[in-house]
Amino acid sequence: MDYKSVIDSIFAQVQDLRGKGTQATYIPALAAVNPEHIGLCLRTLDGQVYQAGDAQVRFSLQSISKVFALAMAFSMQGDSLWTRMGKEPSGAAFNSLIQLELENGIPRNPFINAGALVMADVLIKHMPQPENQFLDFVRSVSHCPTINFNYGVALSERSQAYLNTAIANLLKYHGNIDGDIERVLQFYFLMCSVEMSCEELSQAFLPFADHTRPFDYNGVRLTSSQVKRMNAIMQTCGFYDEAGEFSFLVGLPGKSGVGGGIAAIYPGQYAVAVWSPRLNNKGNSLIGMKSLELLTTLTAQSIF
Ligand code: GLU
Repeated sequence: MDYKSVIDSIFAQVQDLRGKGTQATYIPALAAVNPEHIGLCLRTLDGQVYQAGDAQVRFSLQSISKVFALAMAFSMQGDSLWTRMGKEPSGAAFNSLIQLELENGIPRNPFINAGALVMADVLIKHMPQPENQFLDFVRSVSHCPTINFNYGVALSERSQAYLNTAIANLLKYHGNIDGDIERVLQFYFLMCSVEMSCEELSQAFLPFADHTRPFDYNGVRLTSSQVKRMNAIMQTCGFYDEAGEFSFLVGLPGKSGVGGGIAAIYPGQYAVAVWSPRLNNKGNSLIGMKSLELLTTLTAQSIF
């Protein structure tokens, strides 16, 4: 497959969409990011790397970091994790309170905010230094020792975190958070604030594309069966209440974040990361989604 011409062609075709969509503004620091960036990087399991645009500029992972949190929580807790959260698509906004209330404090899946707050609670309980251990893991899986939190973004999010605080309180009320709510929120915002470039993110997702091999990075170990299950959750729950549309248009497991990033995998072949800050009305990067739709269309490769 000539991925180079495919990536070049995608980059050329999405230029027409520049200016469409809106940046996330509910986190003030994200609203300050230059919305014109477009980055793309595809990395194959046999070591080829194809990139275009701002593929080396770091951006805020936001909900993409929930994939790394899940790898850690699943590795530590195994299937008992599923007593505290489900694995069904939510069909609701990622920060919805209504569904959580109706379902008695059990989040639908690990990738909505409620699920990620429960995972933050799990990680804090299992690790003496959760921040350091989270960073050590993401540095290891991305092969990049300089990956870090952006404390300014985390503080900025904390300053406006009315909904996430309400979600954490509801979880606590239902007994689904053991620890201190403030501590859980603090760690959650730091996890979301991790920054990577498309080049680094494609590396960090490559082990999920290599799904027939066990996963082992800095003590975070998953069997190939657990990697397969993580990919299944990315497929069904990775794109807010647009997971069906993403499956329909793209057909790859992946995860998006309100920083405008999307990471996806084609099992057995490649990991791909794309970033463009302007989002569609469901919170997914508008140019990111189009890029991945073009990728699976031009290559005629997807999991379907
Ligand atoms: N930190 C963001 C929040 O909690 C993450 C949202 C996202 O990327 O989906 O609202």
